[in-house]
Amino acid sequence: MARLVLKFGGTSVADPERIRNAAERVAREADAGHEVAVVVSAMSGVTNDLVRQVAAISPLYDAAEHDAVVASGEQVTSGLMALTLQQLGVPARSFQGWQLPIRTDGTHGRARIRQVESGALRSVAAAGQVAVVAGFQGLSPDGRVTTLGRGGSDTTAVALAAALEADRCDIYTDVDGVYTCDPRIVPRARKIDRVAFEEMLELSSQGARVLQTRSVAMAMRRGVRLQVLSSFEDAPGTLIVGEEEIVEEQVVTGVAVSREDAKVTLTGVEDRPGVAAAIFGPLADAEINVDMIVQNVADGGAHTDITFTVPKTDLDRATALLREAALAFDSLKPDPNVAKVSVVGIGMRSHAGVAQRMFATLAARGINIEVISTSEIKISVLIAEEYAELAARALHTAYGLDGDD
Ligand code: ADP
Ligand code: ASP
Ligand code: MG
Repeated sequence: MARLVLKFGGTSVADPERIRNAAERVAREADAGHEVAVVVSAMSGVTNDLVRQVAAISPLYDAAEHDAVVASGEQVTSGLMALTLQQLGVPARSFQGWQLPIRTDGTHGRARIRQVESGALRSVAAAGQVAVVAGFQGLSPDGRVTTLGRGGSDTTAVALAAALEADRCDIYTDVDGVYTCDPRIVPRARKIDRVAFEEMLELSSQGARVLQTRSVAMAMRRGVRLQVLSSFEDAPGTLIVGEEEIVEEQVVTGVAVSREDAKVTLTGVEDRPGVAAAIFGPLADAEINVDMIVQNVADGGAHTDITFTVPKTDLDRATALLREAALAFDSLKPDPNVAKVSVVGIGMRSHAGVAQRMFATLAARGINIEVISTSEIKISVLIAEEYAELAARALHTAYGLDGDD
């Protein structure tokens, strides 16, 4: 007997028929003698709709009320899933985040899980029932409902798996695993059988939304065995594993595309100590995440240009803060029409020429690189948004990742 956490994403619970399909998978695992806990997302499209409703009433919304509204999609599906399981003869009950509780910090909209109390889940399992937990939500220190950031049900599932010391956490979704690139962007992307935690962390944080980045970080830290698989097909999925379990190390394992960031360029900034702190200090204080940064070498030494990226959703706030900051510059140019394309692979540590191949491939397509950033196992470039798909496909081919159409 194994202890499993099964998580079903939005498309897997999009209507009563799909909830039934998901419930049948749960029933199959329970019938096989496994101890099962379930995590569900809201029906696909529902969270987006709730976010729109909040913004329509109150553009500068109260974040706690935003969460009270936006968390409701998961309440519906947890109850519907428990009812469907009961119909199939599987004793089940639903839990909201606050009922366990799943304790988080108070950062509404992207709260971090601090602790999952597993007592109630263990009692339910001991009584032979299946707990169905609403994903994406938790309880703040002052007793309010919080949400964990978009895609946060993945993190709920991993947190539960860690708290229950589960043998595996299965993430059921609308693709049958992690691919070498988003198959919607690169039709010739291939399914990867095993991917290392570190690679998955980079792929997720660079735009592969199949797993929320925080869920991968938590699984890595807490040693949770994670699998991504399809709720519509009976094929084995992708296992996210420690590096020692990767048999064949690829130089580049995957390509990721992100359209989440915008570029900001400040020209004619004084070139003296303290300038970077004057620019990035106010952004950090406002919790605006800066990702890529380049500072050009100043002509003559007096002035310089600085370019960096911030989330598109924070672009207006960032430009307003910079205009108010104690900082002299010639111009401030915001540009939301950019995309970040990244190549990721643990094999990069031991191979030279990986970056050069990327630059040459993009040059051959006439694609201009605006900003570059690297880590030990990743190279990212910022390019004009209109070239994102072309770049991803060209790089996918150049690194030998293409499968059949
Ligand atoms: P869910 O609602 O089940 O959480 P998501 O939409 O969050 O599903 O994630 C699944 C989607 O992630 C897929 O439909 C796919 O388009 C996208 N995706 C992006 N990058 C990848 C990748 N490298 N491998 C697989 N899917 C990816
Ligand atoms: N329903 C939430 C979202 O759409 C959480 C999730 O699906 O993981 O972001
Ligand atoms: Mg998701």
